[in-house]
Amino acid sequence: MTIIIDGKAVAAEIRQEAKGEATTLLEQGITPCLAVVLVGDNPASKAYVGSKVKACEEVGVKSIKIEMDADASEEALLAQIEGLNNDASVHGILVQLPLPKHMDEDRIIEALDPSKDVDGFHPVNVGKLSIGIDCLTPCTPTGIPELIVRSGIEMSGKHAVVIGRSNIVGKPMMNILVQKGNKANCTVTCCHSGTKDLTEFTRQADILIAAIGVPEFVTADMVKPGATVIDVGINRVDDASDKRGYKLVGDVNFDDVKAVAGAITPVPGGVGPMTVAMLMKNTVKAARMLHGIG
Ligand code: NAD
Repeated sequence: MTIIIDGKAVAAEIRQEAKGEATTLLEQGITPCLAVVLVGDNPASKAYVGSKVKACEEVGVKSIKIEMDADASEEALLAQIEGLNNDASVHGILVQLPLPKHMDEDRIIEALDPSKDVDGFHPVNVGKLSIGIDCLTPCTPTGIPELIVRSGIEMSGKHAVVIGRSNIVGKPMMNILVQKGNKANCTVTCCHSGTKDLTEFTRQADILIAAIGVPEFVTADMVKPGATVIDVGINRVDDASDKRGYKLVGDVNFDDVKAVAGAITPVPGGVGPMTVAMLMKNTVKAARMLHGIG
């Protein structure tokens, strides 16, 4: 029987834990606070920001939403970030990506105080993660070992193959999987658009993580029987039968792969809900670290 990994249930468990940690901080007179900065009116970004603010309410984290016009200058955004960096009541800062084309995302990320960088994208946090120093790590890949281990699947000693090498998912995923500990300790292979004979590698995976951005790219012939398959992809494809005119599918052909996998995440309801849950964990962690609480 293939295990269908329930991302909603695991995310609810993690939000509950974050709520408990936030309550402990509140009892010590500390109100964990996340500032979310949205530039422009991209509908998907607006929806993501809305779900993050809602999660804060549920968990007992104060949220500040800063909205800027799409034509705001990079200097204006940098000034906002500086203000938030210097505001001791703010523990986490998230700048919703992508930014408008006239802004330099790298410059914006580097302007964040690394100790408030709850997305874990600042080069200081990227470096700390790679050498195994406790830090704020990117929410989506950080949630994946939680999904696997909390579904009763062991990771240590397994061969994990990641498809994708983005700074948001693929690369931090590799760095997380290779660390010591029961939520990692994997032998890691990273495949990408330059990989020759991709299937040769994916078929060796005990844990296969797809972060490609191509709808239903991974098919059953690419998967070792019994493997755990984690689908990070979120792709909109036209669907006349849906009233929105589209449906969401992952990077894995779910029905095809389900027949061979030992465990698999659905889309939606797999990796997606974990991202916001891990953001809550990171915000509470940032508040603890900033107040010197272990
Ligand atoms: P990206 O476009 O930055 O990276 C895609 C990666 O896939 C690249 O590194 C590329 O080398 C690799 N790739 C592309 N075509 C390939 C091929 N034919 N063979 C092998 N590798 C190939 O995308 P991303 O930001 O890493 O996101 C990946 C997917 O995950 C997208 O669908 C995105 O929407 C989704 N995503 C979901 C969440 C979430 O919360 N669930 C968060 C971030 C991204």
